[in-house]
Amino acid sequence: MADGQGILVIGELAGSELALVTREALSAARSLSGALGGEPVSLVIAGADLGDAPQQGISAGADTVYTVVSPVLEGTPPDAVVAVAERAAQVASPRYVIGSKTLLGRDVLPRVAFRLGTALAQDCATLEVDSQQRLVATRPVYGGSAIAKVACLQTPAVAALRPKSVEPLEPDASRIGEIKTLDIQLDDSVVKARVVDRTERPSEGIRLEDAKVVVSGGRGLGGPEGFEPLKDLASLIGGAVGASRAVCDAGWLPSSYQVGLTGKTVTPDLYIAVGISGASQHMAGCSSARAIVAINKDAGANIFKEARFGVVGDWQKVLPAFIDQLHELLQ
Ligand SMILES: Cc1cc2nc3c(=O)[nH]c(=O)nc-3n(C[C@H](O)[C@H](O)[C@H](O)COP(=O)(O)OP(=O)(O)OC[C@H]3O[C@@H](n4cnc5c(N)ncnc54)[C@H](O)[C@@H]3O)c2cc1C
Repeated sequence: MADGQGILVIGELAGSELALVTREALSAARSLSGALGGEPVSLVIAGADLGDAPQQGISAGADTVYTVVSPVLEGTPPDAVVAVAERAAQVASPRYVIGSKTLLGRDVLPRVAFRLGTALAQDCATLEVDSQQRLVATRPVYGGSAIAKVACLQTPAVAALRPKSVEPLEPDASRIGEIKTLDIQLDDSVVKARVVDRTERPSEGIRLEDAKVVVSGGRGLGGPEGFEPLKDLASLIGGAVGASRAVCDAGWLPSSYQVGLTGKTVTPDLYIAVGISGASQHMAGCSSARAIVAINKDAGANIFKEARFGVVGDWQKVLPAFIDQLHELLQ
């Protein structure tokens, strides 16, 4: 594909709303556009029902939104999304294509890069433009123990952005943009695999990814019963409970609680880590928290290097006193 202009974001839906990850990708795209002297940002969204998502895309930073509405897209089959993204890239002819490192993105983006005859920068935490207008990304490697900086040598450069690594822009309803129907013929033959059933695990309280306060526990809690005071603490301060991988691997909590490189990325104002050593793979999921508070009996634990406040001690002694104090303060 010849050298293009601008940035194309491959959008995702949450129901019939624009997904938060797509608003984050649009925010990243606007920064890149700024570095490229204001090149246009376009968005492609596809689904059986788009609701108000195209307009939300403009409010979130897109100049042009390409839409595809088709019953073929019911359930968002990746095969159909690949076809849509490829067509959108042909029409928009972008310099960069950005998607999100989600379940869908992990399936779709490598295939889109292949079809465009280019390479993919996976799992990007930051995206920048260098002096030669190449897309430069940072991404965790070796299980999060190191950060690699990669420059995309081909265009269009395709990148998968890690959720929660960029703040979305405040929606601006006064932004002006164009909504265009993408010229593509989709039929069922494009879809080779479909999700036939979904089981939703009921979740209590605030979603981990959206919580302003996260109280996370590690192997140091000794067992699932150790999470009871953590749940009390979280509900007292309106937070969500998280966990290290050691906890989820041991089956003390489901993997949906896992924070880290292979778990969820959280960006709360306050992250309280109890009995967590602070391995790099765990920190990859929480180091963007505004403040980290650690409770650990080992003064040499890595978590204290990252924490703004720390208590060296046995959580069984520290936590009840902490919760009592909070009760008093909140009365
Ligand atoms: C490819 C790869 C991906 C990974 N992805 C993730 C990931 O997404 N998320 C993740 O969390 N990990 C991940 N890991 C695992 C990671 O390397 C660590 O093994 C894990 O985070 C350790 O969990 P932990 O801190 O709970 O347990 P431990 O390392 O066992 O630490 C327990 C801590 O509790 C403290 N402690 C013990 N008793 C008490 C007490 N009574 N009071 C106070 N403190 C106490 C100890 O001093 C210790 O610091 C990954 C590893 C690999 C190789």
